[in-house]
Amino acid sequence: MGRPTGFLEYPREETKERSPLKRLSDWKEYSEQQPEDMLKRQSARCMDCGTPFCHIGIEINGAAAGCPINNLIPEWNDLVYRGKWKEALDRLLKTNNFPEFTGRVCPAPCEGSCTVELAGPAVTIKNIERAIIDKGFENGWIQPRIPTKRSGKKIAIVGSGPAGLAAADQLNQAGHSVTVYERDNLAGGLLTYGIPNMKLDKDIVKRRITLLRQEGIDFILNTEIGKDVMADELNEQFDAVILCTGAQKQRNLELEGREAEGVHFAMKYLTQSTKRLLGIEVKEPIIDAEGKNVIVIGGGDTGADCVATALRQKCKSVVQFGKHPKLPNARSKENMWPEQPNIFTMDYAYEEATAQFGHDPREYSVQTKKIVSDSEGHLKELHTIQMKRTSDENGNIVFKEIEGTEQVWPADLVFIAIGFEGTEHPVLKQFGVETKNNKVKAKHGDYKTNLNGVFAAGDSRRGQSLIVWAIQEGRECAREVDKYLMGASVLP
Ligand SMILES: Cc1cc2nc3c(=O)[nH]c(=O)nc-3n(C[C@H](O)[C@H](O)[C@H](O)COP(=O)(O)OP(=O)(O)OC[C@H]3O[C@@H](n4cnc5c(N)ncnc54)[C@H](O)[C@@H]3O)c2cc1C
Ligand code: SF4
Repeated sequence: MGRPTGFLEYPREETKERSPLKRLSDWKEYSEQQPEDMLKRQSARCMDCGTPFCHIGIEINGAAAGCPINNLIPEWNDLVYRGKWKEALDRLLKTNNFPEFTGRVCPAPCEGSCTVELAGPAVTIKNIERAIIDKGFENGWIQPRIPTKRSGKKIAIVGSGPAGLAAADQLNQAGHSVTVYERDNLAGGLLTYGIPNMKLDKDIVKRRITLLRQEGIDFILNTEIGKDVMADELNEQFDAVILCTGAQKQRNLELEGREAEGVHFAMKYLTQSTKRLLGIEVKEPIIDAEGKNVIVIGGGDTGADCVATALRQKCKSVVQFGKHPKLPNARSKENMWPEQPNIFTMDYAYEEATAQFGHDPREYSVQTKKIVSDSEGHLKELHTIQMKRTSDENGNIVFKEIEGTEQVWPADLVFIAIGFEGTEHPVLKQFGVETKNNKVKAKHGDYKTNLNGVFAAGDSRRGQSLIVWAIQEGRECAREVDKYLMGASVLP
């Protein structure tokens, strides 16, 4: 342990961010590099617990508690405190293929499980992780690791999101020849087209893909498996196939007026916005929020990313409807440590909206009743009602409308961000892979589908989740594929 009394001496210092109004004028990352003396103080707060709950990585009530990839957090905290950044990087890379992604956008279940949280605010683990990997790149410590021996085995990975990339990285380092197929024009999955640039700069994603290419992974872009290349061809040409196709099938809103012009899926908007930023041609009509009254339906993170995007496009107003009531400021009895805290937070988008318009854009316990358009079919307004969250006689949560709370909201643009149904089916059908609840049927831990030599990992298997889980599944799946091909595996 760096400094045994650190957690008593130093308060938690939050991530340094650019001022909300300033950052609204560009698309650069909103978080800044953290000063080294601050990182040292923060790593000194780590108690090097005998049982480090930050690193356990289990699921409690469907949410992660501790780091799902079992990052060696107390070890690298100590090394950072001692100024041994290169050694800290070596420890970090033992468990995490892409800390530059998780260090920026992971919701950090490790911090929710940190023991210091029992008596005060947790250690700032995520900031320290980001600083270690950023220093690694800055100092040239990250160089292509080109495998010296090849096994002669060929693996196809369908989908280049974090699950596909993690599996590809592991299998390539084990000496296999890996080809990643991606239907989009750029690799990265939701890291590229989903998470906006101000959360994760696309140059950071590009830098990693370039490195993976230099290490020998072959990326075939603009190629949809099931359409441009058939499942049979992959089965014939490769010794194993991993399906990492994500869970991007969006949940629709079955509502009167849904067809109005100006109502879009959130993902279409976010993808377009990133393409425009990168100077990539958008073939459909452009969706732009400039000068418009924007409403986002859905209270989650995808909705928050739409709010931040609309603000940068200089919308006239923005509101985000959530079905659930406002979260409490502190943990409830049902949400105790070491579970991830389910509490009210000010995400970057809400800070920005508050700075721009003087109030938080979130509206809680709102149900949209209908969408109304004008005589030409253009979106005009949304009609809503307030809901009360209660439970039925069996204890199930139900939402009841509160009479007399009807409201009309002027709207020029509406984004639907009410979650994802699961993975897209055509490619799975062509392979003949079994699905359950819109997810590929394969067990967490062995990743085998019903077909010999065909595996699945990430959101396609687990449903829409987190980058850190996608990396965890990609890594574990790679080990199972290695075992399948070679009879044993040395992969972690
Ligand atoms: C808007 C948004 C913001 C998010 N923000 C965060 C965040 O801040 N932090 C966090 O931890 N998580 C976040 N997530 C969740 C996270 O991005 C996902 O859990 C993660 O990317 C899943 O990784 P994956 O590799 O399984 O799938 P994906 O990233 O979805 O990648 C799947 C890839 O497969 C490709 N593909 C699909 N079918 C085919 C085919 N037939 N042929 C070829 N290619 C195909 C797709 O084009 C895609 O590139 C966010 C999600 C969204 C939607
Ligand atoms: S739980 Fe917190 S204090 Fe304990 S080892 Fe992990 S980061 Fe350090």
